[in-house]
Amino acid sequence: MSAASAVQRETLRTLPTDAARQVQWGYADRFDLQMLVQGTRAVARGPVARLVAKGGRNSHEWTDDKASLLKAFDESGITGVFMDPEDGGLIAGPKNLALALVAFELAWVDGGAATASLAGCLALAPIHERGTPEQQSHYMKLAAPAQAGEGRKPWRGAFCLTEPIPYVGVDTGMLNGKLRIVEWKEGGEPLLQVEKRGRFITNIGFANFVTAAVDSDDERIKGSCMVILEEGDPGIFDRGTPTKKMVHQLSSTGDPIFNLRVPASRIIGGYEVKDGVLIPRFNHSEIIEAVFRRTRVTVGVMTAAKLLSAVEPVIRYQRGRFRGAETATPGSVRYELGLQAREDSLHRLVDVWAMGEASASLGFAAARTFDELDPLEKQMEQLYAERGIIGAKAKLKVLREAAERAVALMQLPGGDAQRDYLNSDLLLRFVALDSVADVLCPAAKLWNTGWGTQMMREAVSLMGGYGITEDCPGFLGNKWMDAQLEATYEGPEAVQRRQLSVTMTNPVFLAQFRNWIREMRSIASDHPGTGACALATAMSMWIWSLNHLQHSKDAEGGKLYQSARQGVTFPLADALCWLVAARCQILDVLRLERDGAADPSIAEGLPGLINFFSDLCHVQAARASGEVARICAELVFGYNRHPAWDEEGTRGCWHEEELEQLEGFMPGINSYRFDVIGSNGSHPKKAGPCVTCAGETPFLSLQAKLAGCLTGSRLAKDRAAEAISKIMIPEALDYPA
Ligand SMILES: Cc1cc2nc3c(=O)[nH]c(=O)nc-3n(C[C@H](O)[C@H](O)[C@H](O)COP(=O)(O)OP(=O)(O)OC[C@H]3O[C@@H](n4cnc5c(N)ncnc54)[C@H](O)[C@@H]3O)c2cc1C
Repeated sequence: MSAASAVQRETLRTLPTDAARQVQWGYADRFDLQMLVQGTRAVARGPVARLVAKGGRNSHEWTDDKASLLKAFDESGITGVFMDPEDGGLIAGPKNLALALVAFELAWVDGGAATASLAGCLALAPIHERGTPEQQSHYMKLAAPAQAGEGRKPWRGAFCLTEPIPYVGVDTGMLNGKLRIVEWKEGGEPLLQVEKRGRFITNIGFANFVTAAVDSDDERIKGSCMVILEEGDPGIFDRGTPTKKMVHQLSSTGDPIFNLRVPASRIIGGYEVKDGVLIPRFNHSEIIEAVFRRTRVTVGVMTAAKLLSAVEPVIRYQRGRFRGAETATPGSVRYELGLQAREDSLHRLVDVWAMGEASASLGFAAARTFDELDPLEKQMEQLYAERGIIGAKAKLKVLREAAERAVALMQLPGGDAQRDYLNSDLLLRFVALDSVADVLCPAAKLWNTGWGTQMMREAVSLMGGYGITEDCPGFLGNKWMDAQLEATYEGPEAVQRRQLSVTMTNPVFLAQFRNWIREMRSIASDHPGTGACALATAMSMWIWSLNHLQHSKDAEGGKLYQSARQGVTFPLADALCWLVAARCQILDVLRLERDGAADPSIAEGLPGLINFFSDLCHVQAARASGEVARICAELVFGYNRHPAWDEEGTRGCWHEEELEQLEGFMPGINSYRFDVIGSNGSHPKKAGPCVTCAGETPFLSLQAKLAGCLTGSRLAKDRAAEAISKIMIPEALDYPA
């Protein structure tokens, strides 16, 4: 052993504490959020966990036990998170991070419970994002938890977009819900008839109101909109039969039927009347776009929680696996380490943990970005009003000009002055942040849930047969299945990939992405153990590949990067997600290192924690780089036709006679024989002459460089594995309590 390695490297001693997480995920200065986390955790690890343990998930019905959770949500402050204090809520200002933390804590135990809480917010979201001030105030107050002695029950809501096949699913434009005017008295408010059938609608078993997407079935109404339906409205409010789902059973889901008469004031965002035609201010697409843009982040955070929640139960299972056997006596490796004496068991757990960290960092980064963006959006509305900029076209023009200015600035060589200028100009700051939010949200939803589901399978497998039983500590089997729903609802993976394939080509995003490459290199120079350098190379490879594919054609002359070519755009979107997740993970660890020392409760174990987290970053960066290299190589080369042993394909090949002649004045050239055509037309036995790749040479250089950049990543994995084998964990899981 060398002198250097003889010095013990500090490593983590216990599972990360709340205080460390608060710094890492950016809410150390938010006491309100810290209290919210504690309150939510008490509900999750108390009533929610007990209900799961006693088999509450074994019924499709909305039972009294499940309903009792709503009361627990109200009492703990979970229900009130969505509203502003003046409407009976708890938290002033943007609430994206707050909602993400609630989702994280609930999903740590049960995804269905998290969904039951979040679906209420989803129902209110159309009103929050696009409702009139009257609608906002009215429904927020109704849905806020009751104050002591108020004697009212808070209203619950459901969001109803999806319809029975063949209508709305992934394709949200295929609306069958109908809206007609049934009465319109001179000078009065029109009365509307709403017909809507829903499919898989969450919260429907108990909802008092529904925000539903419908289309005009009347020439006196223009286009689509969203309307608010209430259970007391005249007509049919049929909740339908409960969906026989295999996941999230603590939430209520069903296929409702509505045929109701409502006043036109229920159109979300209001309407105007022009030449006798009622024109909703927002069509349903505009509203759901504004809604999902935020709510999808919380779904991504839910799956991250599942992965991180798996760590402790797996460690405990692995350690205790052989205890009690005659041959496993206390003090023996078999007794003390159990399955953790096996490298593969530890390495796979490292993978689960590393991906959990990356997905939590990505989800919380997205939530924080929206918290930053929310006030900017309001300031932008003010700016438009002050400058008299009215209408979508005029606004787009202003944004386009700002985007051009922002890109030009971002391309200037480095520096704080440039960053300060970008930050001080509202328009520039807005377009920059908006373009990042446009990527982070679908990335968090797509990658966290899709890869989260794959990784939950790994976690389950680490528990052996136990993993797929109801008794599995941490309910890991449930979480594996639940994760698949998180990948499906609020738009499955195809929707997120479609969105990313557009937003990731926004020049404002790409200019920032290029700066992120420089940022990663600079981080790597101070923190070489984080894998930031490998990540920077993989980022360069991604951007080279995007540019190449945007300007290349396939063997048939077909354009490669275009919306119909999902085989090109979707995998590139997937590759980007790996990169942004790994970057967020590294940045969070750096924040913990920078700010954690100031907190005495963290400072003591901080060096070990940072060493361990850096190793996880390195592991994740290596995995991300590998995925990017694989995806990009397939796309860059896969659309070229492989040369065949025909006239065209062999045009660049040597012929045996030529080589023999050359050997006379270039002795030894024959030893470089490669793809030589014999005098009888014979050729080597393979698919065809090897590809020369003239246009793709830079890619090959990056590929070679990336392979070298992986140096040390397995050593990091070994260190992380060893750390896990030594970490102290509590005697028992703290739920079900
Ligand atoms: C438990 C549960 C709760 C739900 N809660 C609600 C709710 O509260 N409110 C609500 O409105 N909805 C809700 N949903 C519906 C959910 O949002 C939809 O199921 C989801 O959006 C997918 O739609 P779909 O089932 O019709 O799938 P489809 O549209 O039939 O998609 C099937 C597959 O084809 C792929 N695909 C479809 N179109 C494309 C395309 N253009 N390009 C590439 N691939 C494509 C999809 O990615 C998917 O893999 C819920 C669903 C479930 C299961």
